[in-house]
Amino acid sequence: MTRKILLCLLAAALLAAAAPRKPKLVLAIVIDQFRYDYLTRFRSDYTSGLDKMLKTGAVFTSANLDHFPTVTAIGHSTFLTGATPSESGIVGNEWYVREEHHSVTSVSDPGASLLGGKGEGSSPNRLLVSTVGDELKIADGGKSRVIGISLKDRAAILPSGHMANGAYWFDNDTGGFVSSTYYFQDLPSWVKDFNQNHPADKFAGATWLNHTMPAAASKRLYAALAASPFGNELIEAFAERALEAEQLGTHGDPDVLTVSFSSNDYVGHQVGPDAPEVREMAIRVDKLLGQLFQAVDKQVGLANVLVVLTADHGVAPVPEVNAARKMPGGRIPQQTFTLAVERALDNRYGEAKWILNSAEGSLYLDQSLIAQKKLDPAEVDRVAAQALLAIPHVFRVYTREQLLNGVPEDPVGRRVLNGFYPRRSGDLEVLLEPYWLFSASASGTSHGTTFSYDTHIPLIFMGTGIRPGQYTESIALNDVAPTLAVILAVEPPSGSSGRVLSEIFSQ
Ligand SMILES: [Zn+2]
Repeated sequence: MTRKILLCLLAAALLAAAAPRKPKLVLAIVIDQFRYDYLTRFRSDYTSGLDKMLKTGAVFTSANLDHFPTVTAIGHSTFLTGATPSESGIVGNEWYVREEHHSVTSVSDPGASLLGGKGEGSSPNRLLVSTVGDELKIADGGKSRVIGISLKDRAAILPSGHMANGAYWFDNDTGGFVSSTYYFQDLPSWVKDFNQNHPADKFAGATWLNHTMPAAASKRLYAALAASPFGNELIEAFAERALEAEQLGTHGDPDVLTVSFSSNDYVGHQVGPDAPEVREMAIRVDKLLGQLFQAVDKQVGLANVLVVLTADHGVAPVPEVNAARKMPGGRIPQQTFTLAVERALDNRYGEAKWILNSAEGSLYLDQSLIAQKKLDPAEVDRVAAQALLAIPHVFRVYTREQLLNGVPEDPVGRRVLNGFYPRRSGDLEVLLEPYWLFSASASGTSHGTTFSYDTHIPLIFMGTGIRPGQYTESIALNDVAPTLAVILAVEPPSGSSGRVLSEIFSQ
C-alpha cells in the first residue's frame, strides 16, 4: 500500500511540468476581430506565421472570453492583465462618467497630449490593475522593456500597461505613428525617422481584391488604410522598426512587445465573417506574422522567444446573410430601447428626461432626478427592465440591483457580472437574442454579445518549453496572464483571475 502511494507520488512528480525557461522576449499578438473558426476554415490557405504557430504551438480549441461586452478595449485589457472588467475597470471602449456628465474612452486622458499629432493624448490611467509587463518591470527594477503597437490607441496602451516604455498607434491626420506625453516628452528619434519617410503614402492607389485606395497621399487615404490590409502592413513594419531600435530581446531581462493588428476589425465590420475580404485579410495576416517572426528570429533567435497569439473578440454574421441561410437574426435600432424606457418611466412617474446616456445595450439613468423625485432606484430599474423585456428579440435585461446582489451563475450571467464595475457601468444592460444587432444601418455587422461567435477566440502559445499540440479543454482569455507570470517568474498581475495553463509546459 505504502509502496503504491510512493509510486503514485513519483509518477505525479515526473508528470508535473516545470515552467519553461524564461524567454528573452515575449511577443504578444492580438488580431482584432478574429474568430476561432478563421483558423480552421482558412487552414489550407496559411503557409507562413499562422501555419508555423498551428504546427509548432500549443493550440487551444475552446478558448473563450469570459466577460461582457466583447469589445476591443476589454479584450485587450484582459489579455495581459488576466482581469475582467469587474476588476480592471475597463467596462467598454467608452463609458459615461456620471460626475463629469460626459463619456470617456477607455484610454482618454485630458492630462496628456498627443505626440506626433494634434490633440488630447491617451494613457492607461483608467486601467486599475497591472499587466504582465508592469509586473516584469516591478520585479527587475524597470530593466525589462515593454512596448505596445497598434492602429488603435486602446489596443496599444491597454496590453502594454502603466509602466510601458512606449505605446504607439496610428494617426489619421498625419499618416504616422503617434504616442502621448504620458510616456515621454518627445517621440523617440526612431519613431520620427519612421514617420519622416511617410510610410502610409506608398499605399496611394494601391488595390486589393476589388478595392482601390484613394489615389493621392491625403487624410482620406490615411483614414481608408485602416479598413484594408495596408493598415496591418504599417503595423508590422513599425513593429520591426521598434524591435530593432529598442533592441528588444537582446539584454539580460525579458522584454515584452505587444502588437495588435487592427485592420481585420475594420474590414470585418463592413463585410462580415462570410465575405471573401475577411479570408483575404486572414491570409495576409498569416504572411505578416511570418515576416515578423523572421525579423524576431534574426535579432533574438526564435528559440529565445515566447509567442502568444489571440483575438480580442469574434463577430456576428451579417443578419441578411444569416437570414438567407434560414438562420435567425436581424437589426434593432438603439432608439427602440431608449424610447421604450422613457415612455414607461413617463407613464409611471411623470414626464422627465430619464436617460443620461446610452451606448448599445447599456443605459445610464439620471440618478439625481430619481433622488429628487424621492423614488426607489431599484424600482425605477425594474419598471424600465419590464418595458425593455416587452420588446421582441430582447434576450435578457440585467439591472444594477441584480448585478450588485448577484445573478444566477449560468455562463451568460457570469459574463455579464464579470463585465460589471459599479462606478462605471450603466443601470440597465440589455442583451439581444443570438444573431440580433443593435443597428440602425442596413449593412455591416458587429460584436459584443456573450454568444460563441463573439467569445470563441484563437489562443496559441509557441516557444521553447511549450509542448505543441491541440488542447481541447475549455479555458478563458484570463488564463494567459497568470500563465505568462509563471513562465517569467513574476507575480501574477494584480486583478488576474485565471488559472495557470501548466498543461502546455513541456517536461
Ligand atoms: Zn470592432
